[in-house]
Amino acid sequence: MHPGESKMRTNRKTARKAAAPVAPRKNAFMHRDKQGHGNKIWIDPDALSVECAICFTPFEAEVFMCKNGHAACAKCCVRINRKCWCCGKPIGDMRCRPLENVLAEMNTHCRFSKYGCTEVVKYIDKSRHEEACPRAPSGCPVDGCTYRGLLLYKHLLDEHSDAVVSVANNLPATTTTLLSLQKSSPFRVLVLERAPDTGEGEGSVFLLLNGGGVLSGRSLSLVRLGPRREGGLEELRYKMEVRGSEPGVLSLEGTAPCVRELEGFEAKMFLFVPDASWAPTDRVSVSIRIG
Ligand SMILES: [Zn+2]
Ligand SMILES: [Zn+2]
Ligand SMILES: [Zn+2]
Ligand SMILES: [Zn+2]
Repeated sequence: MHPGESKMRTNRKTARKAAAPVAPRKNAFMHRDKQGHGNKIWIDPDALSVECAICFTPFEAEVFMCKNGHAACAKCCVRINRKCWCCGKPIGDMRCRPLENVLAEMNTHCRFSKYGCTEVVKYIDKSRHEEACPRAPSGCPVDGCTYRGLLLYKHLLDEHSDAVVSVANNLPATTTTLLSLQKSSPFRVLVLERAPDTGEGEGSVFLLLNGGGVLSGRSLSLVRLGPRREGGLEELRYKMEVRGSEPGVLSLEGTAPCVRELEGFEAKMFLFVPDASWAPTDRVSVSIRIG
């Protein structure tokens, strides 16, 4: 059997469901609401395909379909070069309005309800809410640690105090934190005493990323671990200076984007530190100022 065969079969099945007319199904549960506004319909998420068959994320406001009715989200239409994943017909111009209308009326719970989020969100806003949900847990970045929760800052100080660098804030602009970075370590963990934008006293966690992916050197950048917040408040300014074996100082000033997961993250702005700077000890010294 071709390796992709069983997956394609599943996809076809999903697409048939996605393209089906959106009349109430046998297993949808009907109930007249108390205000007498007519019938409310509950849909078993398994009864109607409400996720993109390609990326398996919940559909957002726009759903596209090919002329045979196979559905895909806007991003995937671009990803598959606007050729239907199932039948090869063009996809990306025609919207699937009936499915969009149903999706627009659907509500659901945030997936972080077990961490205390009580929000009922529109299904099509689910992904956006969850990215910014203040109750979303953070995973510990330290290698081999499985902690996942709401108190990452405290966890890092309690369990990994030897691996984290504490950064004081609200200090004069000339104060920087100095640390040594090894060429082979993918990041260093930095903790800032207090969440500077909320002042809640919870502290913030930053990673100084030491990325590969560039030729003849490494790419350094700073990110903040946590939910993205509305209005860009989370984007804290920072300045970093790198000193290596070559004379001179490499420096970068920018804002630290917020990331929930490092997986798939690519820094838009970084400081290129060439191989020559790391030799011969494979280390550079980094001074950093946040806020
Ligand atoms: Zn998709
Ligand atoms: Zn198709
Ligand atoms: Zn939430
Ligand atoms: Zn940990």
